[in-house]
Amino acid sequence: MTSNAEVIVAGAGPVGLLLACELALAGVCVTVLERRTEPVPQSRALTMHGRTLEMLALRGVAGRFLARGMPIPSGHFAGLPTRLDFSACDSTYPFTLFLAQRVTEELLEAWAGELGVDLRRGVTVESTGQDEDGVWVMGTQRGTPLRLAARYLVGADGARSLVRRQAGIAFDGLPPTKTAMLGDVLLGAPPAGRALSLGNPAGGLMVVPLGGELYRVIVVDAQEIDLPVETPLTLDGLAAATRRVAGDDFGMHAPQWLSRFSNQTCLAQSYRQGRIFLAGDAAHIHLPAGGQGMNVGMQDAMNLGWKLAGVLRGRADPAWLAGLLDTYEAERHPVGAALYRNTLAQSVLMMDAFDPAGQALRATLSELMKGAELNAVLAHDLSGFGIRYPAALLPVEVGGGACAHWTGRRLPDWPLRHADGTASSLYRHLAGGRWVVLRVDGGAQAGVPRVFDGAWAGARCDRGWVDMITAAVPGREAELDGVAALVVRPDGYVDHAIAAMQSAHA
Ligand SMILES: Cc1cc2nc3c(=O)[nH]c(=O)nc-3n(C[C@H](O)[C@H](O)[C@H](O)COP(=O)(O)OP(=O)(O)OC[C@H]3O[C@@H](n4cnc5c(N)ncnc54)[C@H](O)[C@@H]3O)c2cc1C
Repeated sequence: MTSNAEVIVAGAGPVGLLLACELALAGVCVTVLERRTEPVPQSRALTMHGRTLEMLALRGVAGRFLARGMPIPSGHFAGLPTRLDFSACDSTYPFTLFLAQRVTEELLEAWAGELGVDLRRGVTVESTGQDEDGVWVMGTQRGTPLRLAARYLVGADGARSLVRRQAGIAFDGLPPTKTAMLGDVLLGAPPAGRALSLGNPAGGLMVVPLGGELYRVIVVDAQEIDLPVETPLTLDGLAAATRRVAGDDFGMHAPQWLSRFSNQTCLAQSYRQGRIFLAGDAAHIHLPAGGQGMNVGMQDAMNLGWKLAGVLRGRADPAWLAGLLDTYEAERHPVGAALYRNTLAQSVLMMDAFDPAGQALRATLSELMKGAELNAVLAHDLSGFGIRYPAALLPVEVGGGACAHWTGRRLPDWPLRHADGTASSLYRHLAGGRWVVLRVDGGAQAGVPRVFDGAWAGARCDRGWVDMITAAVPGREAELDGVAALVVRPDGYVDHAIAAMQSAHA
């Protein structure tokens, strides 16, 4: 079997698929190898966070996902009674989208097809390697051996990642010590209301409607919390656990999926080994609490995609591009570490807090979450809205000036008004996956091109990799006071701001 791939992606889960789309959008030839011959019918994830929707909106495809899901303005932290309020987040998508992972993958696969991604199902990657010039992958396709070569390999092959193991990257963390149960079952007598969430000394329970009589029931049963994750779960076992926690089994029957999951928490020691990268579950696993694993993984993919594409298309000075590839790990490993921390904290509150002291801790934290400030901090953490990258990527002196606080900030999809009276919005200008310099109309922005040219020329970046636009940002005048321009990365984060004074003196 042959391939012209510049990048091989192992795994066609949501992370591998999004990465492939991002690469193909930039004209990179990408082959995705997936051992499953068919998509998985069950959906682990049901929650897509607002930042993931923003990323999809950056490329103009969020509408496809919104059309198939249901917005929910709140979420949970550790199943505590006080809900996280996303409605105050500064975004076009101040909610989570209730959307089955099966549908997310279906939509991503369709988009990948439109972009010409070479997706090969039924291919199991069995060994990998690299040298100075490239990578190779060996495996089998329906029993027939195959060998493919490319410039780079990305392991998006999930929790047990073969790519990670073959690259010798340590997966440090904590073993599974507690487990919970999951059932997608029909309920003859479902609880009243849209969803049920409760916690008490017997355990915790969530019941979520999946359509028709089908519900997802998740039970944390204090009595069976120590059972190994491999222990088969039966309908009777799930019903008994549900009765212990809720006093009722809601007439569950006809299970479509029964499973257990654990609090195992691990983070790859590095996200890169030469020409091999890790993204998604291959890089981080944890208790699925707060709907984060897929979202963080898709955000990994977005961070890596445009950088890898920039390198492969030779968009700038090779030395600067080499450093740019290193920023994938520098920017995303801390996000993985924060995910590790918040899910571990949730695992204690959800799986190890049945005694009076634990119940008191849950009640105290739930009470504190009624305060808007703490609630907003947690909502920003879990949604990804709160992520900020610490350093500018272009060679600029940001220093401690009035504009320094813009560095690394994500931008919402601001409405823009242009001098000719037309309107647009920021993300529309980022749909091609290029950089954007937004000259803020109304400020002293005449010198912006010269100031920006300094940074751009410093990295010897290709002019075709950036678009210059000039627009007013209605409603954001106070926030943008003193800013002549924002240099926006292809993934919608501000690289750095150019101060009005700086541009006036240029
Ligand atoms: C109960 C539960 C609920 C969850 N809910 C949420 C939620 O609401 N929101 C959220 O964000 N996350 C949630 N998650 C986590 C989410 O499901 C994962 O984080 C997500 O699937 C990771 O995507 P991925 O693409 O990295 O890996 P995967 O989805 O695991 O995909 C990896 C792919 O690689 C393939 N593969 C593996 N090895 C090979 C090989 N050697 N050769 C070829 N192909 C290979 C696999 O077949 C698979 O298709 C939940 C998880 C669980 C268990």
